[in-house]
Amino acid sequence: MLEISNLTHTYGRGASAHNALGGIDLSVAEGELVCIVGPSGCGKSTLLRSIAGLLRPSGGRVVLNGTPVSRTPDDLAVVFQDYSRSLFPWMSVADNVSLPLRRKGQGKRQRTHAALEALELVGLAGAAGKYPWELSGGMQQRVSIARALAYRPSLLLMDEPFGSVDAQTREDLEDLTLRVRSLHTMTILLITHDIDESVYVGDRVVVLSKAPAGIVGDLRVDLPGPRDQISTREHPEFVRMRAEVGRLVRGMRTPQGSPS
Ligand code: ADP
Repeated sequence: MLEISNLTHTYGRGASAHNALGGIDLSVAEGELVCIVGPSGCGKSTLLRSIAGLLRPSGGRVVLNGTPVSRTPDDLAVVFQDYSRSLFPWMSVADNVSLPLRRKGQGKRQRTHAALEALELVGLAGAAGKYPWELSGGMQQRVSIARALAYRPSLLLMDEPFGSVDAQTREDLEDLTLRVRSLHTMTILLITHDIDESVYVGDRVVVLSKAPAGIVGDLRVDLPGPRDQISTREHPEFVRMRAEVGRLVRGMRTPQGSPS
């Protein structure tokens, strides 16, 4: 459903030019949860912004459901790291969640119903009438996730979605993502610099090199489900995968000596 071919991007020109994406080729099938992992500053957000139509890449193509992306596609939702800037403080939680549904032409009753359903799914049914600033950081990020779910996108992009919350909340939100994904068929592309997170959450882990970003690994995660924070993380396959991804992120060779 998502086809990225030879995607390149350079910021600036001349001596100050920075080559962020060095030719990315990636295919994502419907229903996959793909984690993109790579060192900080390697170009992960640049890749995500190109897919979301928020940035016009210097070269290459992004095709979503058969249509080349030139502006933000209608059937796409994005969850950003910075929840405090992605929710409107003067709107109730329910209104924040239902707002994008106007774009789908839904009536007020339908929008409210969808918002309450999504809030229920993320465990925030009781907070519908509150304002975002009355909630903790983790709860605000749940609201952002609920907003994306209510919209029922065919592709959900998540850019370091759990990067601004404490460790316990981070684990809760990882599990929420897995739960939501098991209830709704959805294709998810999740960007993270956290190697353990990429293996814990992903069906597939795509590893980017340092800038200009290129794909140095594309690994299928073969862990028994349902995953849980304790037993999955001590599973031998988890331990093996995190070491392999860690080597690739650091630009090291795999034990077999091949760059995987
Ligand atoms: P990541 O998400 O992997 O941390 P980014 O995609 O945000 O990386 O950035 C990749 C590189 O491009 C970084 O070196 C960053 O400084 C640079 N960069 C990002 N956005 C801009 C911009 N708007 N103008 C110039 N350089 C940028």
